[in-house]
Amino acid sequence: MQNSRAYGIDLPKLALGEHRFDFAVRDAFFANWPDSPLTEAAVDIVARVDKTARHVEVRFSLTGWLILECDRCLRSYSQPVQAEFRVVYTYERNLRETQDEEVIWIDRNTPFLDFMHEFYEFIVLQMPLRRIPPDCPTEACAAVLNYIANASTDDDAPERPSTASPWQALDDLRAKFTDN
Ligand SMILES: [Zn+2]
Repeated sequence: MQNSRAYGIDLPKLALGEHRFDFAVRDAFFANWPDSPLTEAAVDIVARVDKTARHVEVRFSLTGWLILECDRCLRSYSQPVQAEFRVVYTYERNLRETQDEEVIWIDRNTPFLDFMHEFYEFIVLQMPLRRIPPDCPTEACAAVLNYIANASTDDDAPERPSTASPWQALDDLRAKFTDN
């Protein structure tokens, strides 16, 4: 487990008013979540904090890159990330969430405001559902394309169902890579 103090702020020391904090999320961060769908990323996070007597409002700006695996050819590619999130950490239990900000209730004696879970959620939320880079297929996908070409012309292939399509071939290939 990485030291979570790298991803938060000391609250009691913090004067009322506006402050800026800079955080860096790198690959090691994701080791804290063994089931994370993401293991590689470089995301810089700026937290603009406004502390008042009633709450601590934080605007998070994320900029960086996620390293994803192409759904089609399994090649790694980087996906740029740019996003903004607002969270109100409030001492008042009755404050309601609004459409564009999350509200988290905190105890007035909270010594350390930990952003680790927020960072993880923000970053994972940036993963697109369909992960195919605009330049796919490239030369790097040649092996995949050859496999598909062979699969669709080779009538003797014993294990191929008659309904085989290029997408089925891709699924088979993906299974082959992920099984071992
Ligand atoms: Zn690809």
